[in-house]
Amino acid sequence: MTSASRSDNQADISRPRRELPTAEAVATAEAVAVGHVASHRAALAGLPFRQPPAPPSDWLLHGEVPSEGQPVVLIHQTALLQIIAHSRSNLACELGGALLGHTYRYKSGIIVEVKAALPAMSADHGPVHFTFSADSWSRLHRDRATHYSNLDIIGWFHTHPDLGVFYSSDDVVVHSAAFTLPWHVGLVVDPVRDEAAFFGWVAGELSPLGGFYELPERQPETQVPWQIVRTSVWDHAYEAEPQAEQNSHVVLARNTRPRFSVRELGLITSVAALLLSFFLIFGVVLPLRNQVKLLETTLLNVAQVSLAETNGLTCPDPRLRILVPLGGQGYPAGSMIQIIGTAEYPDARRYQIDMRLAEGDQWMMIARLGQDTRLGKLAKWDTTELPAGSYELRLSPVDSNNIRLASSSPCIVSLALIAQADQPKTK
Ligand SMILES: [Zn+2]
Repeated sequence: MTSASRSDNQADISRPRRELPTAEAVATAEAVAVGHVASHRAALAGLPFRQPPAPPSDWLLHGEVPSEGQPVVLIHQTALLQIIAHSRSNLACELGGALLGHTYRYKSGIIVEVKAALPAMSADHGPVHFTFSADSWSRLHRDRATHYSNLDIIGWFHTHPDLGVFYSSDDVVVHSAAFTLPWHVGLVVDPVRDEAAFFGWVAGELSPLGGFYELPERQPETQVPWQIVRTSVWDHAYEAEPQAEQNSHVVLARNTRPRFSVRELGLITSVAALLLSFFLIFGVVLPLRNQVKLLETTLLNVAQVSLAETNGLTCPDPRLRILVPLGGQGYPAGSMIQIIGTAEYPDARRYQIDMRLAEGDQWMMIARLGQDTRLGKLAKWDTTELPAGSYELRLSPVDSNNIRLASSSPCIVSLALIAQADQPKTK
């Protein structure tokens, strides 16, 4: 049974109270709650205007008309069939994958058009919970590039076989870490009860989206087998204080957005880097609980893929890679900067991290590491004594005499330390 209906029969779209939410409403709502106004405004403003593949009068509504301030999900039947097939392929464990398509402005709204769904193939999903492993995440990116190079990853889906539809705290962590753009959506499907609902960022918080539209591009009848349920994001302790230990993971996920100043890091090119940096700031404040560990793992996995491109040019060897700080970015002078990355070089006895002023020729050692590290903290860089300016960081493998291995291509990242007074004030 479904709640499909012709949206034109309801004439809802033209009613002022229930029209498609405006881009400005989305941006404003986001801005109020999120704090990093500039980045979200810029992200939304950067979306192109486009005509949807069919006029809204042709779309089939499932659930409630999308409310003000939320993106409008328009899903092709092709994508629906892919999701249905994958979600029913195994009822014993949670499955999932990526939603692919385009996001654009149409009239005064933001449309999230889902054109395809790409299952995440992973050997390590247990019956407990679906998440993206590093392998499944990179494979998704590869599959997308191979088969859907014209589509973007605009969200994710996963199943809750016979558990009902809701966003668990784990789902919040995954969404907060990997799907941070204001139009990123998540679909939860219960393939046993045939229920489903979309979730997304509404006013800076993860919330269930009341409904979505089906694009009947294959046949006029609906393909949706699901009842669209009124549901919730599990554990509404979002507003709890960080000292509420029980909920620290949720607080972390929630606060990932508001507290962070984009400008402190200069022009951020990667959301993953932003979140990763944020995590590291809060990771030292908050106890490392399981949920936080999950966030860390998810972030590191996402960061590995996204940031490899950013610092990949100057760090050609993936076995020697500084992922954070990001090359070409500005960081506050005087701060303690966490250096994250991978140091796993075959003949290395130790690893050395050096820094120098960009014009200088004298490298100075920051730290020496005695062990291999894969996707982890390599060192802390104390910049309190350093003047503002352009710097280079270098990660190299060394032998037992601390001589750099001649065979290696060291990773060198250029960045700027920005004087505190030069930084724009943020709330
Ligand atoms: Zn879930």
